[in-house]
Amino acid sequence: MSNASDIRELQEKQEQLTKGVVNAFEQVSFDYAKLQTMFFALLQDLGKTDTLSCSECNEEVMRPLLSKLPVENTCPMCGGDLINDTSQTTVDDWDNGTTEEE
Ligand SMILES: [Zn+2]
Repeated sequence: MSNASDIRELQEKQEQLTKGVVNAFEQVSFDYAKLQTMFFALLQDLGKTDTLSCSECNEEVMRPLLSKLPVENTCPMCGGDLINDTSQTTVDDWDNGTTEEE
């Protein structure tokens, strides 16, 4: 067995490993997106979301309203301030929560 064929074999194994890792990450991010979609659909059914629009990019942003989670006030796309254009009753949920944000 020559050194050259050993190196060639190692390179092939390396390529296979890299492809495997890339595939695994793709699968994980696909599953993550699916889970996130299901999670938001569930929260929406429970009335535990509100939808705001971004003051910078006008993107509509749905955010979870859960007492144990801090309320997100910035746009995930651009970091702009979210504005509450439809006053919703679910705001009480996070007033009663433990968040100490202004
Ligand atoms: Zn934005």
